[in-house]
Amino acid sequence: MLKIGICLGEDIGLEVVPECVKVMKAAAAKTGLDVEWKELPLGRVGHQLHGHTMPQYTVDELAKTDGWVSGPIGHNTYPRNDPTWIMPPLRKKFDLFASIKPVRSYPNIKSIHKDVDIVFLREVSEGMLASGTVIAGSGEFRPNDEISIGTRVVTRKGANRVAREAFEIARTRPRKTVCSVHKEPVYRLVCGMFAEECRKVAKEFPDCKLTEVLVDGFAMKLVMNPHQFDVVVTTNQFGDILTDEGAGIVGGLGLAPGLCVGEKHAMAQATHGSAPDIAGKNIANPYAMIMSGQMLFEWLGRKRSEPKATEAAAIIDKAVDKVIAEAKHLTGDLGGKASTTQMGDAIVAAMG
Ligand code: NAD
Repeated sequence: MLKIGICLGEDIGLEVVPECVKVMKAAAAKTGLDVEWKELPLGRVGHQLHGHTMPQYTVDELAKTDGWVSGPIGHNTYPRNDPTWIMPPLRKKFDLFASIKPVRSYPNIKSIHKDVDIVFLREVSEGMLASGTVIAGSGEFRPNDEISIGTRVVTRKGANRVAREAFEIARTRPRKTVCSVHKEPVYRLVCGMFAEECRKVAKEFPDCKLTEVLVDGFAMKLVMNPHQFDVVVTTNQFGDILTDEGAGIVGGLGLAPGLCVGEKHAMAQATHGSAPDIAGKNIANPYAMIMSGQMLFEWLGRKRSEPKATEAAAIIDKAVDKVIAEAKHLTGDLGGKASTTQMGDAIVAAMG
């Protein structure tokens, strides 16, 4: 039995998360996968029920789950004096160290490139992003009004575990290739340590191949010829930029799912925000949230040795492919006329 938490988030989260859960439940039913679902308050509803946008109750309950799906947080929907900044602290509490972002094109969806199928792994527990990765104080300081200093942290443990996750994913894919993106010749110690750990982990995966590309050249190659990349692993700030570039070459935010993973838990979360401009209209594209849920099943299948979860993930993947290829039930941003609910229903129906 798997335990999965549900945090709806705000604005379009209230529309796309139910579609994601509906699709996950249908796939679980097809495979006989036993899941206990629990809805938990986070964001505005946490503030209303518990006086805090990240209630201790929710944190305690999430700790008992195998993972959870999380809708986007709409920071304007709760009072500004609430102290909580939700996502970086939540990631830190559960030591969710890698953000996994697939970048995949579809033949009939408008995109800069076709036949793209890349999985990015961005390290998110250390690196350059001070506020999200430092326990106390900040990784930035200004000793006088003329100088500002930012620090960047790379540890052997941090680099090793994200590289390991990348090779585990590569092993499940036909090309079995991991590209480590860094700039070792310039940042000899920090990028050097990241590159060294990737090389070390690669030796434990003799069935996979490691390539290395310097980050600036990678940014260009990604735009000009993304087909050469399979699984890509990189540090926090490089990944922050490159994953957005990746989403851009295959059609943008509506098609950008994501999974944040740790040693024990994973959080399914699409890249997009709460989109208040289209909230409440039942027109948001549920693809990114649904495919984030699909990734959670795939991860649980691998990490919990639960073949039914792997099977459920494959069922969702196939059903989504079918609905996109048929192009009869797509939301407006994908060139269709379907509502959020109709696209979710079509994906469930495509499971047969
Ligand atoms: P956004 O991603 O919410 O929206 C940007 C544009 O993309 C909008 O025009 C929106 O309508 C469109 N869009 C986004 N998701 C879509 C979908 N699924 N289907 C169709 N169109 C979609 O970014 P924003 O407007 O900068 O941010 C809105 C709120 O979301 C802010 O409060 C921001 O802080 C928050 N945010 C939360 C998260 C998170 O919790 N993970 C991430 C990013 C932004």
